[in-house]
Order: sequence, then C-alpha cells, then structure tokens
Amino acid sequence: MATAAPVILGVFAHPDDESLACGGCLARAAALGARVVLVSLTRGEAGPNDGDAAALGARRAGEFSAAARTLGAEAAVALDHADGMLPWLDPAAIDRDIRALIATHRPDVVITFDADGLYWHPDHITVHERVTAVVTALGQAAPALFYVSLPPGQMRAVAARAGGADVVPGLHDADAFGAAALPPTLVIDAGPLAARKLAAIRCHASQFVGSAFAALTAEEAALIAREHYRRADVGAAGLTLLDRIGTPPAAASA
Ligand SMILES: [Zn+2]
Repeated sequence: MATAAPVILGVFAHPDDESLACGGCLARAAALGARVVLVSLTRGEAGPNDGDAAALGARRAGEFSAAARTLGAEAAVALDHADGMLPWLDPAAIDRDIRALIATHRPDVVITFDADGLYWHPDHITVHERVTAVVTALGQAAPALFYVSLPPGQMRAVAARAGGADVVPGLHDADAFGAAALPPTLVIDAGPLAARKLAAIRCHASQFVGSAFAALTAEEAALIAREHYRRADVGAAGLTLLDRIGTPPAAASA
C-alpha cells in the first residue's frame, strides 16, 4: 500500500515569518515530497505602509504566495486577523481558524513559534499559545507539534555581514532574535536549500528591501541554514519527517 505524503502545516502571524524562521526545513520537507501548507493569521498590514494598510496587506499576501511557491509549499493561506492585535483579539476566533485548518489539511506535523516568539513579538507569542491550546485540546487526534526559534547569534551574523544593517527593518537589536529561546531538541540544516530559503525571504520585498538579507549572496545563505526546533510536550509523539531530516543538538554541533 502506498504511504500518503506527510503533511506539514506551518502556522505563523505574518507573511515572512515562515521563511525567516523555518524556510530551510519547509524547503527540505517539500523537496522530499511532503505537502506543505502555510498559514499567516494576519496579512501583515501594520508594517510601514504609507497610510494604506489594506494595500500593504494585499501586497504582503502576494509576497506570501510567492515565498510559498519558492519553498515548494502547495498553499499559502493569509487570514485577516488584525496585525499587531493578536493578543487582544478573541482567542476563540483564532482557535476556530486553527482548528478548521487542522481539520481540513490533517497535518502530520504542525510548526509554530516557540514561547519566545522569535524576539518577544506579542503576535508571535499569541500564535504559540493558541496553536498549543488547540493541539492540546485535540488529545489523541492531535498532530505532532514542533516549535521553531532562531539560533542565538544567527541574525547578528547576518547583520554583521551586511555592515550592521537591520535584519528586520526597524528592529535594531539583532541580538534580540533567539536571545530568550529555549534549547532546541532538534536541529535542521537547510544544506544546499539555504539559498532557496534566502530567495523565499527575499520574496517579502516590502519587508526586506534594504535589510541585511538584501546584501547576502547565495553562498552566504549558509549563515541562515541552521534552524532550531523543540518538540512540544503535547501532540502526537511518534517519529515525524522532521525527526528524519534533523539531528539532535549535540550531534549537530559536533
Ligand atoms: Zn512576524
């Protein structure tokens, strides 16, 4: 009997989170035949927008689709919860959407932010909390859940290569990324697909033109190849595609 392709559902807050946090893992999984579905709970309309937030949201939704195609994902779903407001919205409304996405796509693995929200971003932390709550409530029927965080120092290295330019425009402290991250249980290296991760990040041109990422060469994409994951203590417990393509942290640093 043929085995169905594994399904990976990535749930994030803004278009660009998926590529920045786990573009390497997603590209590797897709290259191995996994079906990758990406969700952004907002359209990212609260970014610098010249006074037309709706236009920025539409542009960023398009950038999200382009990044998903670059990574080999089959879908990019941009929902319209209010950007910058996730901690103050009705959690039941967010939970309903996450539950519906899981019911529709039946993922084997869900990936979302770890508790540090990459750099204490309140929207990111809320997504971590809501996804954890929904997966917990699914009990025996839950998919596996992995949290992603940024390796401490990685964004500092990217900024240094670009002469100190901001990695994310407006966020001047590159050391904030990953500074509060819990230790990973799994390290995934993008390998040759790091260049594809960089290309996916650059699809988000409204965010990264003029940022440190604009200055990296394809070879320097190796700077962002390493990704940190932590297996949640809720969700299904079996081995997943991520366990197959990743290595335990001790082995990864040896
Ligand atoms: Zn974000």
